[in-house]
Amino acid sequence: MRLLILLIGLLTVGLVAAKSAPGRMAVRYDNFKVYQVTIETDLQMEELRKIHEHITVHFLNELAGPGRTYNLIVGPLFQRSLEKTLNFLEIVYKVIVEDLQKLLDEASVGDDSHMEWETYHTLDTIYDWVDQECAAHDYLECKVIGKSHEGRDIKGVRLSKRSGNKAILLEGNIHAMEWISSATVTFLLNQLINSEDPEMQRLSEEYDWIVVPMVNPDGFVYTHEVERLWRKNRRPNGHMNTTGACYGIDMNRNFDYHWGGAGWNIDEPCDHWFGGEEPNTEVEILSLQDFVSSFDDGYIRSYMAFHAYGQYVLLPYGHSNTEFPPNYEQMQRIAAAFSDAAAEVYGSTFTYGASGLLNYVVSGAAKDWAYGVKNIPFTCTVELRDKGTFGFFLPSNQITEVGIEVTAGLKALVNKAQEEGIFD
Ligand SMILES: [Zn+2]
Repeated sequence: MRLLILLIGLLTVGLVAAKSAPGRMAVRYDNFKVYQVTIETDLQMEELRKIHEHITVHFLNELAGPGRTYNLIVGPLFQRSLEKTLNFLEIVYKVIVEDLQKLLDEASVGDDSHMEWETYHTLDTIYDWVDQECAAHDYLECKVIGKSHEGRDIKGVRLSKRSGNKAILLEGNIHAMEWISSATVTFLLNQLINSEDPEMQRLSEEYDWIVVPMVNPDGFVYTHEVERLWRKNRRPNGHMNTTGACYGIDMNRNFDYHWGGAGWNIDEPCDHWFGGEEPNTEVEILSLQDFVSSFDDGYIRSYMAFHAYGQYVLLPYGHSNTEFPPNYEQMQRIAAAFSDAAAEVYGSTFTYGASGLLNYVVSGAAKDWAYGVKNIPFTCTVELRDKGTFGFFLPSNQITEVGIEVTAGLKALVNKAQEEGIFD
């Protein structure tokens, strides 16, 4: 018996230690460099696509085409041969991060004992905070909208202080590694609940807010415990490569609207942007879709998905750069209001426009499904800070500033959308 207690005690200590030790993940990146390469020609693009055949490399951006820069992570063992290859191919490059692990440590979880917005938090702390707010306020309706592949809760919050309001939906962390997404979505929810700013209080009175802070809990936990750079969910996807079974689907490529159209990259089922064999295969996004569809048609008038990075407000469509939504100009005016207001706070500029035009042509994203299938008249993907200095590893000391600038942008966006008749 005493031994059992001792064992349980040791196990508990072990678990606590594992949970509260930032930077102690299974996969480490000591002395890994991040290279930024500028691809100018089709031939360089073709060679870059094949570079993984002889160099172990982790691409941080989806490979679209020439005329762009791409960031790649390479470990100490392969840095010399990468540099030789790039020089041989006359590909211009620079090292933007000298030691990736150092950067990851600065963008890790700090004091996780309670929720605040000066550090990143674990899923448990985020969900505990959501539960506490739900218990404290009658106007919040909270529920588990579904379970992830590994059985974790996907939580949805609906804030409604007045009947007859129209709603705005905020979606967080569909991509696991983009921690700033759920940090910002919870920041916004906290503002809507607890802010003393009269304008914020008015927005929380006059509109309903539907918040799904964590669409991808399995991937998120995986980025905390095993591999900080994970993007997809964690379902074994039925494919193998030299390292074994491949996991996950890029859930923001799996929505069923013009799915599998131009720009599709289905040959690489093990890469970070694999959108599945067919649309709507992932339980996480089916839960989200069912939740959205559980409301009356016409109730949700705006759908905003939060991502990192690049500072964009990406509008529909993603599947084309020649076809535009019927109210594209109206959506641009609304996005411009966000962009102008956000820039006023700390000078961060957000570029806005159709994602197929600004980013690259790719389909299966939530904002296109919300617009094209659910007929929500204003939808967007907000790519948060920054423009590439820290990229996916935005240091924790920027979380509050991002929250504040996005709050300013959101206020202007809602007011402009109101003026444009989006909520009529
Ligand atoms: Zn993303």
